Amino acid sequence: MSTWRDNLRTIEPYVPGEQPNLPDMIKLNTNENPYPPSPKVVGVLKSFDCDSLRLYPDPNSQLLADALAKRYGLASDQVFLGVGSDDVLAIAFMTFFNSKKPVLFPDITYSFYDVWAELFQIPYERPALDEHFDLIREDYYKENGGVVIANPNAPTGVLQNIDFLRDVIEHNRDVVVIIDEAYADFSESSALELTKEYDNVLIVQTYSKSRALAGMRIGYAMGNPELIKAMNDVRYSYNSYPMTRLSVALGVAALEDETYFQETVAKVIETREWTKEQLKRLGFSFRDSQTNFIFAAHESVPAVQIFDALREKHIFVRHFSQKRIDNYLRISIGTREEMERFIEETEKIVANAGK
Ligand code: PMP
Repeated sequence: MSTWRDNLRTIEPYVPGEQPNLPDMIKLNTNENPYPPSPKVVGVLKSFDCDSLRLYPDPNSQLLADALAKRYGLASDQVFLGVGSDDVLAIAFMTFFNSKKPVLFPDITYSFYDVWAELFQIPYERPALDEHFDLIREDYYKENGGVVIANPNAPTGVLQNIDFLRDVIEHNRDVVVIIDEAYADFSESSALELTKEYDNVLIVQTYSKSRALAGMRIGYAMGNPELIKAMNDVRYSYNSYPMTRLSVALGVAALEDETYFQETVAKVIETREWTKEQLKRLGFSFRDSQTNFIFAAHESVPAVQIFDALREKHIFVRHFSQKRIDNYLRISIGTREEMERFIEETEKIVANAGK
């Protein structure tokens, strides 16, 4: 007897970091920004015309596309908008990865990539990072159906330089190369300039980290107009109004406050560098993170033990049980005060573990 269950799309979903809500917690587990959105964003929200919510939003979200284009020196038709960069990436996978050849991304990277590949039934291979968590360029020289590189990579925090990316792109002119720059604002470089040279490169960025708007869900892609049009054709084939009136208004407002953006990013970087020093002092090792998190392993105390002990103190960091990285903790950068508390508690945990 057949039932509807025979026709289900079964899939193991991506599991995001938990979102506890405890008054005294220190939340360092989902790479959110520890600072509030820009005061300009708050101002626009306070004076937002609620009556306008009766009406559907502009399907093209033109105001936001224009503002992003201006900020990044592009034309508006080179910008694609989505509900967080997860939405942007999912649509990019659907739009560009329709060959029978495998799409390539590293074994250790953003763990949503293989979930989308499974969901959309895209073949994929995951070349292993080397023992220092660097990508091996030759792995991306083989024939493939597309390439996805998170740069800086997550959860490792490691940045591949522009020459590396250029080389991979040069070897992959017949497929789309997606560069996921969720964390690039915290690093020393972005590969955006490569979209001017190569028509097959798509840069994906987000408001969730450097612009402190994870709760609004705004992401965007930048690339040549043909790529963007292809993505919009897919997008408008199942949802005509992805971006709400509110996300467009707040997204524009955030871009108008470049000073605040620069200041908060600089503060996160400064705290990150301080945290690196402290973690080294406590016996942790890690690659030099170029993001708003540090991916670190302790020389003697197992990651799970530290994770659990921190959790008891309502300090939340992230642990992945995947092979090769199960002895690491991914620690998002909070405010200086939060990181001081984190270091203080971690110091006690590490000292007690040795007794
Ligand atoms: N890419 C990477 C590498 C990430 O770590 C994240 C955050 N989980 C995202 C994309 C998605 O972020 P968002 O959907 O909030 O833009």
